[in-house]
Amino acid sequence: VSVLAIDIGGTKMAAAIVDADGTVVRRDRTPTVPADPWPAFAEMLDVLVDSEPIEGVGIGCGGPMTWPAGEVSPLNIPGWRDFPLRARLAERYPGVPVRLHNDAIAFAAAEHWKGAGQGVNDMIGMVVSTGVGGGLVLGGHIVDGASGNAGHIGHVVADPDGPVCVCGGRGCLEAIARGPATVAWARERGSTAVDGPSLAGLAAAGDEVARAALARSGRAVGGVVGSVAALLDVRIVVVGGGLSQSGPAFWEPLQEAFGAQARLPYLAGARVVPPGLGGDAALVGAAALVLAGDRYWSAD
Ligand SMILES: [Zn+2]
Repeated sequence: VSVLAIDIGGTKMAAAIVDADGTVVRRDRTPTVPADPWPAFAEMLDVLVDSEPIEGVGIGCGGPMTWPAGEVSPLNIPGWRDFPLRARLAERYPGVPVRLHNDAIAFAAAEHWKGAGQGVNDMIGMVVSTGVGGGLVLGGHIVDGASGNAGHIGHVVADPDGPVCVCGGRGCLEAIARGPATVAWARERGSTAVDGPSLAGLAAAGDEVARAALARSGRAVGGVVGSVAALLDVRIVVVGGGLSQSGPAFWEPLQEAFGAQARLPYLAGARVVPPGLGGDAALVGAAALVLAGDRYWSAD
């Protein structure tokens, strides 16, 4: 059994053939063409799939989207507004399941299926990068919510007096901790950092502003995760995404804030951990929607 797994992001589109045990057999990627991504995307799929029979298609895509219909409007792809991605792929690959979910839920599924959350019944998988998103596994199954957005931890309030968020609310975790906000906070204080990796590099070299910026974001993540862990009674929270690769300057304040917040006795065994899968998590999670659909797919 092998399936076609697809990860749609704002800067690149990745696809892979994934076999039944979650191994990526073959892969390709192409830069996202924001105005009209379909031609290059379809060509990549044709080369990748070639003559090999596939037994399903799983897609992780940036939101917003309608779910499970799979009409997508990714923020960074203006050419796709209410684009019927799931239906278009179902036409292209008739007779097999075609399943699409948001990329943060795909990440959570991947980490539960083959990553740091293996064998745990209750976990949060979250991503701190350009945005902050997440997915929930409770009782061993992905929780979708009414619109497919359950687990969207980025809009939990981290600071009621904090900055206004893109969602219109105030003080959301995303508004404080997302990579661009973290870099902007440092730049307002004189830092020369231009992106997450350069900020992490400065912090590793001992730069105080860079360290303070990453500590602020890490603390915000740790505090919110501690609160949400209490709400959901989870045992593992996997924190991935670009900013999670910033090293101890991010992780130590995160763990400290988590420990300070998650104090109820039933949370004694709860841990926050980095991802078990590397860059393949998005593709493995997309594949899991088909290959382990009993746990990660509940729609038609
Ligand atoms: Zn928000």
